[in-house]
Order: sequence, then C-alpha cells, then structure tokens
Amino acid sequence: MAPIVRPDIHTPFHIDFGWFEQNGRDLREEMYDALCEECRALYPSPAEKRLVDRVDPETAQVMRVDALWECLADHCGQKPGFITPATPLTTAIFRALLANENRPLTPEQLHRRIGKSNPNSILRVLMGAQIENGIVPAEGDGKQV
Ligand SMILES: [Zn+2]
Repeated sequence: MAPIVRPDIHTPFHIDFGWFEQNGRDLREEMYDALCEECRALYPSPAEKRLVDRVDPETAQVMRVDALWECLADHCGQKPGFITPATPLTTAIFRALLANENRPLTPEQLHRRIGKSNPNSILRVLMGAQIENGIVPAEGDGKQV
C-alpha cells in the first residue's frame, strides 16, 4: 500500500461516484434534489437521462455530459439560492462540487465558494469518521482503476 498523505486545507476533494453505488444511494437523485425549480420543470423525473454536448470552458473540448451536470454547473449553481447561509455545511460542500462539475476543490476553495465556516472546519467535516456524500480526497485518483 502506498503511504497515506494526511490531507490538509490544500488537498483537493471530489465526489467518488463509486461510493454512491456501494452505499445504495443514487447520485442522480441527489443532483436532481439540488436543481432549481426552473430546471426541475425541464426534467420531470430524475430517472430520465439526457445527454447534451457541453464545451469545457477551460479546454474548449466538446464533451457529452449528463444534462443534470450542465444544469447544475451553468444554471442552478450560479443562482444565489443554490448555497445560502442556511444550507447545512455538508450539503453546501456537496453542492459546491456539483456546481464545479466535480472538478476537485480544496477546503480553502470550498470555503471561498460557500462563503461560510472556515477551511479547517471544512477539512474536519471532510475527514470525519463518516464519509459524507462520497466526498474523498482526489489525490492519487486514476492510478488504481
Ligand atoms: Zn437551474
């Protein structure tokens, strides 16, 4: 086993999709829950899967993605009500990653995005005994497929 590097506030975290499968939870349903009313009207059911072309703003590559990701990244996630001071911290962290298309974010970046708590408390939540919403350190990812 590779040595485990202790995560700090500069360690990127992301959502591990496999965790949802292993824990019998449906990621698409949770994404659906995060949609705003307008988008929910567009997608009457979380079971309905639609693929859309999306241009990556950083690489300009065209990718086929689940339409829910596009909604969350380009629409709902940009709205002020997506994450509010009343949003529980674990939910706010999860939503920030959804709006970022699950590109990894460090506790420091998460703190800036959600505008509450502080990087160290966010790190503590992420490193808690119970994995919340499948959020795990993104480092070393892709090496063990
Ligand atoms: Zn929306």
